[in-house]
Amino acid sequence: MAEHGDQAMPLAGGQSLIPLLAMRLVRPGHIVDLSRVGELQQVSVAEGRVSIGAMARQRDIEHDPRMPGLVRVAVPHIGHFQIRNRGTVGGSLSHMDPAAEWPAIALALDAVMVAASVRGRRDITADAFMIGPQMTSLEPEELLVEVVLPMRTEGFGFAEVTRRGLGDFALAGAACQDKAVVVFGVGLRPQRLRVVEDFLNRGGGTRAEISAVAASEIQATDAIHTSSHYRRVVAAALVGAVIEESQARGGVA
Ligand SMILES: Cc1cc2nc3c(=O)[nH]c(=O)nc-3n(C[C@H](O)[C@H](O)[C@H](O)COP(=O)(O)OP(=O)(O)OC[C@H]3O[C@@H](n4cnc5c(N)ncnc54)[C@H](O)[C@@H]3O)c2cc1C
Repeated sequence: MAEHGDQAMPLAGGQSLIPLLAMRLVRPGHIVDLSRVGELQQVSVAEGRVSIGAMARQRDIEHDPRMPGLVRVAVPHIGHFQIRNRGTVGGSLSHMDPAAEWPAIALALDAVMVAASVRGRRDITADAFMIGPQMTSLEPEELLVEVVLPMRTEGFGFAEVTRRGLGDFALAGAACQDKAVVVFGVGLRPQRLRVVEDFLNRGGGTRAEISAVAASEIQATDAIHTSSHYRRVVAAALVGAVIEESQARGGVA
């Protein structure tokens, strides 16, 4: 990566990169296959934190009982199991599809992304990592090597609306961990709803009141299947639902 800079692209599970190559939407001079870099596949739990190597497969994470609750409920919504068999956690975060589940999970859990290059390692907050569609704050020669999440087993909620049940990307979605609330699939990147979080911190309200606050804060854009109005309305309703779900799971919201 250091040698070829922005002429090189890492290949993880290939579930997004191979279609991009096939459609000639990207034309890298070099592809760097990460599949045999063993240390990138490691997963460990220590001191209340879960560290997931970038090359951990989504399907392995889905079935790992050591994962935070939000991860366990959200990851099964990613594509089909065949895609999760190949697709990796780091690949999904680096690809940064605004409708993907992993960026929303990372933002709700205040994940730390660990990037590495020949110049060393650095930690990036989930918020700073995500810039926009297929854009992250990784430098051209950097790899995402690890994602660090707090171990939380209560107080989480997750919901999304898709056209055909499991398998499709979300038309709109919401995730929460206690009072941290995120919507995804509505705009150019997942959005933390700070006004909703303040509302919850001041005592909150009914599900309908929470959804109304969310609707006023969500920044939605038009998409191929949905209008910005549809996305805002649906995501706001999902916010009310996930907060209720998180409270039922012992959340502090
Ligand atoms: C039919 C279909 C349906 C899908 N549905 C969903 C869905 O509902 N939800 C969802 O979230 N995803 C979905 N996906 C995408 C899937 O989750 C991919 O696995 C994921 O987006 C990319 O992960 P990957 O490991 O395959 O990465 P790759 O395709 O190998 O790489 C993706 C991009 O990330 C870069 N990259 C990979 N690893 C790193 C790294 N460690 N550091 C820096 N850059 C890196 C690559 O260079 C490339 O630009 C779907 C895919 C398909 C084909």
